[in-house]
Amino acid sequence: MARVLFINAGSEGHINPTLGVVQELVRRGEEVVYLTAEPFRHRVEATGAKVLTYDADKFFKAFLAGGRSPWGRVGGLLRAADVVIPSVLEQTQTRGEQFDYIIHDAMFGSGRLLAQILGLPAINSCTSFVVQPSSFHEMQDRLSRTFPAEENERAKQEYEEIIRNVEAKYHVRVGSPYEVFFNPAPLTIVYTSRDFQPDGERFDDSYKFVGPSIATRSQGEFDFSHVDTSNLIYISLGTVFNRAIEFYKLCIDAFANTKYTVILSVGSQTQITELGDIPENFIVRHYVPQLEVLRHAKLFITHGGMNSTSEGLYYGVPLVVLPQSADQPMIAQRVAALGAGINLARENLTAATLRESAERVLGDPTFKTACDRIGESFRAAGGYRRAVDEIFAYKHSLGIMK
Ligand code: UDP
Repeated sequence: MARVLFINAGSEGHINPTLGVVQELVRRGEEVVYLTAEPFRHRVEATGAKVLTYDADKFFKAFLAGGRSPWGRVGGLLRAADVVIPSVLEQTQTRGEQFDYIIHDAMFGSGRLLAQILGLPAINSCTSFVVQPSSFHEMQDRLSRTFPAEENERAKQEYEEIIRNVEAKYHVRVGSPYEVFFNPAPLTIVYTSRDFQPDGERFDDSYKFVGPSIATRSQGEFDFSHVDTSNLIYISLGTVFNRAIEFYKLCIDAFANTKYTVILSVGSQTQITELGDIPENFIVRHYVPQLEVLRHAKLFITHGGMNSTSEGLYYGVPLVVLPQSADQPMIAQRVAALGAGINLARENLTAATLRESAERVLGDPTFKTACDRIGESFRAAGGYRRAVDEIFAYKHSLGIMK
């Protein structure tokens, strides 16, 4: 039995795919200590892992302190690492805890640095598409052009200073901005299929495309016994940027009193009363057990988060994708390019356009066929069990035979 330190952030999108992996690691005898934010304690503990937490408020303040420019963001990742690293060391090393390897989230760089500090092999857990250095640099350049030159310069200087501080404080090599952003490791577990990953064939064998890691999660009850699921549309903007009253009202306008049953997940920050009268064919909740809902849904209107998209495709549900930020535009383009849904702009969206788009996807069986094909590639990729096979093969290759 090896001891594993799992370093992750505090957001559903980065945690959900890892739950099956951790549960499987524990089932096969590994002892997992998992760092996350307090609200996820219960969910992670249910996998059998021991949970450590970090101060999420301090983490976000540090992350946001660099500003929104590309240099500010990579600097923010390092500042946040400087919050997490002492916290982990305090909770483990000073108490004599030993580990055999680290698994860290791709965007949560403290894991890569902790691996250096503790002298441990590292595995990268990538919950979105893998980004090549060349695409990362293009993205940095493109985004930089949208900020004033002085702001870029200031953020870059601050970034260089943070690197010097972090390297001196922890005796680590921080590396390039790409490394800070993506945290490459000798083994990367990617929770999609090579077919769905753009340019999937360009990645070498150290990238293991295991497909979405769909495992049972404890998400509360949802009673379908009185729900007409024959024309079920599910709508969610995910768990991060989901305070969108006007959009939810627009959904109500688009589908009120139609043959569709609509399940609308509005997130914890939205007051349902702000939406006005809820039509009878709508079920509005702050949060729903999404995997269960998708088993019944005929269409998913989504923001295009990697997990939501993958989960929809896994269950063969065609998509209308309304990307907002981060990796969502790229994901929406990929869905549309493979014919599994429509990529729709949120700007100037009307109820009529939303309804027409939904009916176009529902009425054309080629969307469903494309979804099923991608879903098949996901299932064939092996999911969390394959992820653990790869992790074990890697640790054995390093001589960790416990
Ligand atoms: N989710 C859920 N119920 C909800 C809304 C979201 O279970 O009502 C889950 C969803 O299944 C997915 C995650 O939250 O696993 C959202 O991750 P995603 O990458 O799609 O978007 P993010 O929340 O990171 O923007």
